[in-house]
Amino acid sequence: MTATDYDLFVIGGGSGGVRAARIAAGYGAKVAIAEEDRYGGTCVIRGCVPKKLLVYASRYGDEFEDARGFGWTSGLATFDWRTLIANKDREIARLEQIYESNLKAKGVVTLKTRAELIGPGAVKLSDGQRITARTILIATGGRPSRYGDIPGANHIITSNEVFELEDLPKRIVVCGGGYIAVEFASIFAGLGVETTLVHRRDKVLRGFDEDLRDGLMEALAGRGIRLLMNEALTGVARDGAAYHVALRGGGSLETDLVLSAIGREPATKGLGLDSAGVRTGAKGEIIVDSFSQTTVPGIFAVGDVTDRANLTPVAIREGHAFADTVFGKRPVQVDHSLIPTAVFTTPELATVGLSEEAARALGHELDLYKARFRPMRNTISGRNERTLMKLVVDRGTDRVLGCHVLGPDAAEIVQMAAVALQLGARKADFDATVALHPSAGEELVTLREKWAPPA
Ligand code: FAD
Ligand code: NDP
Repeated sequence: MTATDYDLFVIGGGSGGVRAARIAAGYGAKVAIAEEDRYGGTCVIRGCVPKKLLVYASRYGDEFEDARGFGWTSGLATFDWRTLIANKDREIARLEQIYESNLKAKGVVTLKTRAELIGPGAVKLSDGQRITARTILIATGGRPSRYGDIPGANHIITSNEVFELEDLPKRIVVCGGGYIAVEFASIFAGLGVETTLVHRRDKVLRGFDEDLRDGLMEALAGRGIRLLMNEALTGVARDGAAYHVALRGGGSLETDLVLSAIGREPATKGLGLDSAGVRTGAKGEIIVDSFSQTTVPGIFAVGDVTDRANLTPVAIREGHAFADTVFGKRPVQVDHSLIPTAVFTTPELATVGLSEEAARALGHELDLYKARFRPMRNTISGRNERTLMKLVVDRGTDRVLGCHVLGPDAAEIVQMAAVALQLGARKADFDATVALHPSAGEELVTLREKWAPPA
């Protein structure tokens, strides 16, 4: 075998690439990683982490309001966007530095450059340098899809830019009905921005349980977000500091900012995949087998660039499993069948397992258990929002197929319910579990009445 510069060369320093590089180096491999932007990738720099910080910020208004019912009075609360963004930036810079120093501590060579394939086992860096490696891992993630085909599309920002806004707009139009659109509509509304959500279907969050979708839309509308469903943008025109947004239905909106969140595309353009013979699918995603190997032996891909389940913990698992398999001599396949996920709106929702609709489509006969209640905190605060909890149970086996929560702390509750589903819990196991009182989560172990549709 001819000598190569490295055992492993990783392209992309985000969630999947960093985990794979660190674990492979821990097994004794000689590893280098290239990141063209900032270590940490989407999740740390312009995704999960800054988003969650903004979510926290957006929820303080509720806290101030609710506190009154509990006897608190305070002065006039004011909010300063620039302080929030500066503090967020400081935290992100801290995390970025930790990501890079953790790699270095494991002996990984960290390069700040773009890298492209120039054939199997070879990459080229931005400065023209060529590097060879026995194994190459592509972990380049994804990029926001852009509204490209309407006049004035250049005025529309995406989630990449939203974290860097200098000022908080007074009005915003958010376009899309997926995770990012509803999360940001909720963030901006929570910060007092007049918010309109424009979506091409009749409901947001396609693929989630219908009860959650309906419950979330009711809650968002109840919080003053204007929901324009079955609508689309047909043009955006600048008018001084404002924008006029034309809608397919003939209406128009005046706003200070237009944000689109209409999905993400795998970052495979210009990567040199053809030069190495790596095959991609219809969206440009890299096709991989269950060990994340591409169609070319020695070239692997993990994370969003493979468009399997585009979530950070999944990218991390795929990167870790790749390193275990190739460098730890311990073949590991990632199980994508039971992935908990949360949408950090206010109220938030979280889910693990099958929706009622997906379970029926798979042929399951179902028993459903639902609770809709006012959380204790909302009683004397006077807040009217209700929590929704739902268990989808296979009638024949009593297995809990899905657990769905809409309400405060949904993500925290569902993370733990996911352990039970992972262990194959039956409804009888939920029933046998002692409640923790008073909590919202206890509803999941005290649901006794099967739900029947109203006669
Ligand atoms: P990335 O993290 O995107 O990393 C890829 C890296 O590769 C990038 O840093 C990029 O600069 C670099 N790169 C690309 N091409 C090259 C090249 N040719 N050479 C060198 N470097 C290159 N997931 C959750 O689980 N929970 C959440 O709450 C959540 N919130 C999100 C919020 C937003 C706004 C967004 C956009 C995403 C969110 N996600 C969330 C999804 C999550 O961020 C991604 O699933 C995750 O980051 C994917 O990791 P990755 O390693 O595949 O790619
Ligand atoms: P999603 O895939 O979640 O949603 C895209 C939305 O845009 C859908 O409502 C889709 O509608 C709509 N859409 C697609 N194309 C168009 C178009 N041409 N015109 C108008 N609307 C369109 O993408 P996001 O951008 O919201 O997020 C990307 C991914 O990032 C998520 O899927 C998720 O994997 C990850 N993420 C995870 C988060 C979390 O874990 N909390 C938070 C944020 C992102 P339709 O339903 O009709 O297809």
